[in-house]
Amino acid sequence: MSKASKMAGKRRDLAIGIDLGTTYSCVGVWQNNRVEIIPNDQGNLITPSYVAFTDSKRLIGDAAKNQAGVNPSNTIFDSKRLIGRRFSDASVQSDIKHWPFKVISGPDDKPMIVVQYRGVEQQFAAEEISSMVLMKMRETAEAYLGTTVKNAVVTVPACSTELQRQATWNAGVLANLNVIRIIPEPTAAALAYGLDRKAAEIREDDYNVLVFDLGGGTFDVSVLNIMEGFFDVRATAGAAHLGGEDFDNRMVNHFVQEFKRKKKKDISGNPRALRRLRTACERAKRTLSSTLETTIEIDCLYEDIDFYSTITRARFEELNMDLFRKCMGIVEDCLSEAWNINIHSVHDVVLVGGSSRIPKIQQLLQELFDGKELCHSINPDEAVAYGATIQAAILSGQGDDHEIESFLLMDATPLSLGLDTEGGVMTVLIPRNTSIPTKKELVLSTDLDNQPCIRIQVYEGEGTMTRDNNLLGEFEFSVPPAPKGVPQISITFDIDANGILGVSAEDKTTGQKMKKTITKRFRLKH
Ligand code: ADP
Ligand code: MG
Repeated sequence: MSKASKMAGKRRDLAIGIDLGTTYSCVGVWQNNRVEIIPNDQGNLITPSYVAFTDSKRLIGDAAKNQAGVNPSNTIFDSKRLIGRRFSDASVQSDIKHWPFKVISGPDDKPMIVVQYRGVEQQFAAEEISSMVLMKMRETAEAYLGTTVKNAVVTVPACSTELQRQATWNAGVLANLNVIRIIPEPTAAALAYGLDRKAAEIREDDYNVLVFDLGGGTFDVSVLNIMEGFFDVRATAGAAHLGGEDFDNRMVNHFVQEFKRKKKKDISGNPRALRRLRTACERAKRTLSSTLETTIEIDCLYEDIDFYSTITRARFEELNMDLFRKCMGIVEDCLSEAWNINIHSVHDVVLVGGSSRIPKIQQLLQELFDGKELCHSINPDEAVAYGATIQAAILSGQGDDHEIESFLLMDATPLSLGLDTEGGVMTVLIPRNTSIPTKKELVLSTDLDNQPCIRIQVYEGEGTMTRDNNLLGEFEFSVPPAPKGVPQISITFDIDANGILGVSAEDKTTGQKMKKTITKRFRLKH
């Protein structure tokens, strides 16, 4: 059954948009002709992606985070860092060292989180923890709307693998949700600002957007190209451990030193004191985004000693300047990865993630883009959920009467996809209008004796010569010395159900492989 027919009966059902974040999650719904971001039972618009287990109950969101200090080994966070990964992954191994909860290797190298719940030891997979967060978001929406909610659009990082998307999908199923679409976070942010409509109005064939997402623990930069309602992720860059928590830590260290100087005591070995100081520092950091100076006041911080101090925005910036500069370097890296796009061909810069509220970050980014106005009118910690909600409204047909147009799900390739071969000829692997998912293979060889590598250039378009088509990406695949025509290099184009094209090359004789995700696209309209 095609996706379109599967969806047909559900078009009128209400659907919500969920940003499933590493540190915070957010949910929205299309109502009264606009996106409404929904407050949780604590009145907060964002909910910590935390789940805690105690002797008597399970807690999710604010309640879980609030008791983390007294129940560290059974309070689970960062499940997004585990989802769809193997236990033996280097990133998992290094993350485990920093978590206060236990993670072990389960069947098939799957990471399993071990907790004490109601007095017994229990194991949970990352998608089960994420499903509990999704369930909380669904319940938040249901309480607000006074009705049950089934359908949802959920976002994932732009650079996520097929396994991570699949696991996120499974988390939705476990949360009793019908996940109608998984979309990349930067695409959602661009949708939130209506940049697809802006691109269509301006009628530029090449409308480029840079999404700068600085969250609690991660930093992601993406360059998108928007054309005729398609969003192509042209390049991504980032740092898995760079975000608000690092800025908090710098301030914590600053005050630990100050305490040592003023009170002659070292609090760095006292987890409770550090925790209280960290909470105060995070609050101070947020305040410094809107004021130039703030105070820290903690009674009985250490051995009955009260701690009162002040910090200026300038001092905070000084403590973090190397990290802020690092962010800008990553933006430049991302641009240099995006083929044919540079600072001057970026039409919009979109700010996402709570930490993008920091004025110095905004200033540095604006300077990098020659003084360009940045898109920050939507709360940066809500922008992804906002875009997911627009997508949900489009998919469920809720916007039919309003601005949002009706929509057909893409289940076919709009343009032919192929390779540049001898003489600049376009050799098509996947003809246009092929239904997806699909996978095609072609075997190539070398044109010269001892040719060191072959260049794989992926094009889309209907021209017989590649010069008339669009280059989507390219890479080099090295070949061991051999007479011309002898090496057998198999090239595979694989488009998954989300419309993501992976191109891989394999040397049939040596077994050497290389895979590249050339572009990610999803169809919005038409
Ligand atoms: P996620 O990484 O889960 O996507 P968010 O985008 O919500 O999370 O970002 C959370 C981070 O944003 C936290 O580190 C928080 O301290 C930080 N933050 C939120 N508001 C502000 C603010 N006004 N100024 C500076 N940092 C902020
Ligand atoms: Mg986020």
